[in-house]
Amino acid sequence: MRATLQRYRAAPGPPAAVFFDLDDTLFDHSGTVCRALRAVRARSPVLGRVPLGRLVARYLGHLGDLYPRELAGRLSAVDARNERFRRLLEEAGGRASGTEATELAAFYRDTYQRSRREVPGASALLASYRKEGIQVGVITNNREQEQVEKLEYLGLAPFVELLITSEAAGVAKPDPRIFRVGLRRARVTPAQARMVGDSWESDIVGAASAGLPAVWFDRRSAEPPTTPRVPRIGGLSPLPTVRRRIAEWRGSYRPAADSTSTRRRPKE
Ligand SMILES: [Mg+2]
Repeated sequence: MRATLQRYRAAPGPPAAVFFDLDDTLFDHSGTVCRALRAVRARSPVLGRVPLGRLVARYLGHLGDLYPRELAGRLSAVDARNERFRRLLEEAGGRASGTEATELAAFYRDTYQRSRREVPGASALLASYRKEGIQVGVITNNREQEQVEKLEYLGLAPFVELLITSEAAGVAKPDPRIFRVGLRRARVTPAQARMVGDSWESDIVGAASAGLPAVWFDRRSAEPPTTPRVPRIGGLSPLPTVRRRIAEWRGSYRPAADSTSTRRRPKE
């Protein structure tokens, strides 16, 4: 425990490198899903009966459920999407015919691709780091080609010096090895860098297990788990506030006094 606490610290002064998660940190994935499903509801009488909030929640649930198989290469992206819509139709009491699910999945995909947006403030934040010579990296669980295309579409590619995908690294967050790949490529120590992400388990606990100071992008104002303790941001703007919170990092692995749980404690 002592060794862990010693390793998990931030060097004084501005960071030399800042790593970001991509989906739902720089890229507004949830908002894009919402826009695309709104269009799907207008097209499908069956899914149109499901309130938008519920449809989004169910869709994200199926996405989370099927994604590990997709990431592992056991399910193609197209088959996974078709299966998500087959399930949505079935849950809505419609005929879960393959044809209807496939047609809606293709429509959803087109709409989703065209509706993509950055999280407000993302490009301004990355640009401000690059302007000062601070390295910007993205550490993301996804396929290389998909994330490269996404960064280019969003206009974020010029600001990102280092892209580390789980596909290229051969390991996925929260495995500490993917964060170490980023640190090695940036040629910085963990204390000189920061990780910003929305997933507590993947981004925060994962980064902490590599000794990398993490800042939680808490988009849903969730209750923070107690271990490790890290700073939070609720958005990527206003720029000075966000930059200060990232730079003046304070955190620890120390469990809360009333917590005896070690379930979330990083492995090292
Ligand atoms: Mg994310």
